Amino acid sequence: MDLKPFQENFYEIYKVQATGIASAPGRVNLIGEHTDYNAGFVLPCALNFKTQVLFRARTDQRVTVRSLSYPGESDQFDVSQPIVKGKSQWGNYVRAVAYVLQQAGHVLSGADLLIDSDVPQGAGLSSSAALELAIGGVFNALSQLNLSATELALLGQRAENEFMDCQCGIMDQLISAKGAADHALLIDCQDLHTELVPLPDDLAVVIINSNYPRKLVDSEYNQRRAACEAAASKLGVASLRHATLEMVNANTSLTATEQKRARHVVTENARVIDAVAALKKADLAALSQLMAESHQSLHLDYEVTVPATDTLVRLSQAVLGNEGGARMTGGGFGGAIVCICLPEAVPRLREQVLPAYTAQCGLSADLYVCQAGQGLTVSYF
Ligand code: ADP
Ligand code: MG
Repeated sequence: MDLKPFQENFYEIYKVQATGIASAPGRVNLIGEHTDYNAGFVLPCALNFKTQVLFRARTDQRVTVRSLSYPGESDQFDVSQPIVKGKSQWGNYVRAVAYVLQQAGHVLSGADLLIDSDVPQGAGLSSSAALELAIGGVFNALSQLNLSATELALLGQRAENEFMDCQCGIMDQLISAKGAADHALLIDCQDLHTELVPLPDDLAVVIINSNYPRKLVDSEYNQRRAACEAAASKLGVASLRHATLEMVNANTSLTATEQKRARHVVTENARVIDAVAALKKADLAALSQLMAESHQSLHLDYEVTVPATDTLVRLSQAVLGNEGGARMTGGGFGGAIVCICLPEAVPRLREQVLPAYTAQCGLSADLYVCQAGQGLTVSYF
């Protein structure tokens, strides 16, 4: 990408040249849904959509930040003072990262920052994690904190949990920190162990946002978590990660709902491991089957799909056959679906799925064609 116009923007605003750039991507989860808070497996990939932050150290302890996504707005705060929320909604993400670093005892230097991003916001591709990691990367470099990618991811999650009041898991930040081009990342949410899994040559990752208005998501999410915790406790395991399908089927003290929720988690964990094996063998038919089973399990056992995402998945599966997979991705109750397919199938997805979806659901969907991109990078010019 040509950085020159972006660097010129920085110079116009700050009248000095930026000295470096941090870049962190959005993400999509390929398989392993609602397994993260059950200490299970997830398999996201970083996207080639990314958030970039040009930076330059200041001699004082002020941070000034602008975003090309919010022209005319800016935020400023002082890192020598306790950091509190400001008036800028997006500026608060920058403050949030500075806040958790401050809480962790790090001394930060001031900086002039300029953000640009092609990660769609609020589309389920985690533009917030991309921003947190890019900003974390800037402070890590400028203040010489020597934090690892995993530490920066954990700080990004804390920024979102403690400062932005959003109770997300670790997946979004960890994949944004550690993703690699042409790879997915297997994450074991029990100990944060990760393994890069090569994606077969030039497979396209297609994300279709249903644009279905999401409602009651928090209360439903909390109910799912509670049912999983209750099931684990009745099964006598620390988390559903340690349950087996036999245990779930044989236990008579589980309610019918708890049994269904537990069955999803146990079978989904197994599907993630099977999907890794399928990818390593470039077995698209097996992957297609696993993604279909994952969606079906989220529909019937976990009950987090809606007619809009069920329809998008059904239509996409009809186009792809066993030469690609489709399933809902993210927390559910609307949101997006993800398809993995050969690049030549993408025009058919666009031409056949989108109009049929509008005809059947009365909504218009957004389609993004992506590839697995690089995780956080920070470099000086
Ligand atoms: P998602 O993470 O699914 O995209 P969120 O609501 O969690 O949606 O995060 C979106 C928010 O992140 C935006 O409202 C904004 O505050 C912040 N954000 C994301 N990208 C940018 C950007 N390029 N510039 C400034 N703020 C951004
Ligand atoms: Mg987010």
